[in-house]
Amino acid sequence: MSNHPHYRGRFAPSPTGALHFGSLVAAVASYADALHHQGQWLVRMEDVDETRVIPGSADDILCTLEAFGFEWASPVVFQSQRKSRYRDALRTLQQQNLTYICDCSRRQIAKQAIAGIEGFVYPGNCRKNRGALVAGKATRLLTRPDDEICFFDRIAGKQCQVLTRDVGDFIIHRADGYSAYQLAVVVDDADQGITHIVRGADLLLSTPRQLYLQQLLDFPEPSYAHVPLVTDTQGRKLSKQDQDRPVTSKTPLAGLVAAWQFLRQAPPPKDIIHVAEFWTWAATHWDIQRIGLKKPMEGLFQ
Ligand code: GLU
Repeated sequence: MSNHPHYRGRFAPSPTGALHFGSLVAAVASYADALHHQGQWLVRMEDVDETRVIPGSADDILCTLEAFGFEWASPVVFQSQRKSRYRDALRTLQQQNLTYICDCSRRQIAKQAIAGIEGFVYPGNCRKNRGALVAGKATRLLTRPDDEICFFDRIAGKQCQVLTRDVGDFIIHRADGYSAYQLAVVVDDADQGITHIVRGADLLLSTPRQLYLQQLLDFPEPSYAHVPLVTDTQGRKLSKQDQDRPVTSKTPLAGLVAAWQFLRQAPPPKDIIHVAEFWTWAATHWDIQRIGLKKPMEGLFQ
């Protein structure tokens, strides 16, 4: 166990359905890492995209986490309550003259753009449209063509992107009026003083966008670790919307042990029969290195 007096981790589910095994894996990894460092661990409900929220699922997720023995250090924060903070951040970026209004349709973009690492690279057609928010239109952030953004992921190793080339100028405020996830998550992690982010590998490619926003907003850069995704038999990420593999609170210890094994951790002793005992043991036995640098974890369907 290592003592890290300022460690603050978090789990940030989107309330778009019941907790599934893939989210449980991310929760277990982030909680075990926080316990191992004798740090604090928080839960944030990522309901910034209110159009995708399933009523009741936030409570359902929190009840499931409780049944699994997770304990969070302060009240749960909901993104839907924090819109003014996202507006402040947007204003700061507008003041730096780094934003522009964009009403290109997906179709227009697809016609002209080249494929990037995650969909099309926005070709920058609207770059001239500087100015304040316009209802019904998205706001994009200018990226820097010569700037390679690198970070060291504790599991995946060194990662680098040139945003202009790999992703393009990205949306920070959506046409439907909601803040984009990339902006909300950066503002929240900074406001909550998060020092260590442990989350699913589906967000590995988003991290350079988040680092760029942190630089522009003068926020500290947390440490990152992206845990392997649980996929279905076709190799697709499990999703709450598809109601894939919800976890059951009836057998929490079995769920924790399955997530623990998925994360390639040493098997817990057989005499552990309660979730509280599991977490006490897990705090000392968590070893993030065991997840394996760049080793693919294919075909793992629990
Ligand atoms: N809300 C995201 C999800 O449920 C996680 C975001 C994050 O951990 O940064 O997949």
